[in-house]
Amino acid sequence: MTTNTEVKKLKLTFCGGAGSVTGANFLIEEADEKGEVSLDGTKILVDCGMEQGEADAYERNRKKFMYNPSSIQFLIITHAHADHIGLVPKLVRDGFRGVIYSTPETQKLSELMLEDSLKILTQESIRHRETPLYQPEDVAMTLSLWKSIPYHTATEIAPGFSVYLKNSGHVLGSAMVEMTYNKKKIVFTGDLGNSPSPILKDTEKITDADYLLMESVYGDRNHESQDERLTKLEDVIEETARNKSVLVIPSFSLEKTQVIISQLNSLVEAGRVPLMPVFIDSPLAIRITDVYKQFPEDFNDATKDSIKRGDDIFNFPKLHYTERSEQSIAIKNVPGPKIVIAGSGMSTGGRIQHHEINYLGDPNNILLLIGYQAAGTLGRVIQDGEKKVNILGHDVNIKAKIEYISGYSSHKDSDHLFSFVEDTADKVQKVFVVMGETKSALFLVQRLRDYLGLEAFHPEEGESVVLDF
Ligand SMILES: [Zn+2]
Repeated sequence: MTTNTEVKKLKLTFCGGAGSVTGANFLIEEADEKGEVSLDGTKILVDCGMEQGEADAYERNRKKFMYNPSSIQFLIITHAHADHIGLVPKLVRDGFRGVIYSTPETQKLSELMLEDSLKILTQESIRHRETPLYQPEDVAMTLSLWKSIPYHTATEIAPGFSVYLKNSGHVLGSAMVEMTYNKKKIVFTGDLGNSPSPILKDTEKITDADYLLMESVYGDRNHESQDERLTKLEDVIEETARNKSVLVIPSFSLEKTQVIISQLNSLVEAGRVPLMPVFIDSPLAIRITDVYKQFPEDFNDATKDSIKRGDDIFNFPKLHYTERSEQSIAIKNVPGPKIVIAGSGMSTGGRIQHHEINYLGDPNNILLLIGYQAAGTLGRVIQDGEKKVNILGHDVNIKAKIEYISGYSSHKDSDHLFSFVEDTADKVQKVFVVMGETKSALFLVQRLRDYLGLEAFHPEEGESVVLDF
């Protein structure tokens, strides 16, 4: 019998996303009083993401999981980015047959994201002459195991384990996972949105976490202000108009593209920028934009108000959604000035690479980076100033101007991460700072120790801790 005073233990293992931004994968296991994993205890994973960017990511994604997937009963997904869901079909291929939980929004988006990743993996496996990481049947099985839990709905997923999803304000459907066990709470933040969020509702507060496992992508840096970012965007568009040139924007299909469309919509409708053709050249981003339209209750008040006033925030004059490949190819026949927005966001594949081959050699053109560029990606190489790159077998001399706006990041910056933790500082016993490059995570750890006096840690991949509950 459980009594109020009985201390229980859970073992937390950082299986991925420790020491790196990508590959989030955390395991919670019931343990006995000595901290040993109970044989018949509950095992829950939070996220099962793919590693992205680093040179060894391909091999690392193919290595065996550090646990037996068939022994896991539950997988909770924070949001639909590939670095949080990308290895779920592999988990299923390797034996997982438990229940997958996420918000309904994330469930819908994950279906699109996994089908897209299947295409990318198939191309990648042809290059490496290996079988793909997973097959269509693994994705189908994955989707069949998926159930949704709406925000703010306490759900007992296993005896003693209750899950409650709060909005993390990062992308449509993104959730923080509050897991309650023996009256104590561990919170997994997933990725935390950059407040105030331009379209969606903001990150909710966490005030009563006993343990916190948090992201730290921008743990050591702050973004420019939101006014600054809009002015910068306005400036590059005006420069593009003056030069009658091309503005190329690599953009993530999920969230970033919808934010940029809505920002262009405000600039165009306020008459702040000259009209020019804008191409959304990403089939995935187009489908995701349609999913956004299906969840208007997730928009923030300002967005809801403009929709009420009759504004279609994802549409304005001269905006073209180019879904079919012949439409994409025809973009090059349209004279400048024009704006081309395409995926992938770090230029690691997708249609953006064709535009980069076509346009980066011209000093009049501008490449605008609006998101985090992971170490090892083409986007990062260009951001770091490399002038000669090879894209799809083409040598490209980069003469275009490279601009960077960090304010469009969908992650909280260092100051906002700090104040997010401050809200629960009175209660929290331990903070695990993960999902960031080591330098960034360590900076935040130090800040939390020095200014809030917290027990903050930056665990290594594979490390486990036993927590009192
Ligand atoms: Zn994310």
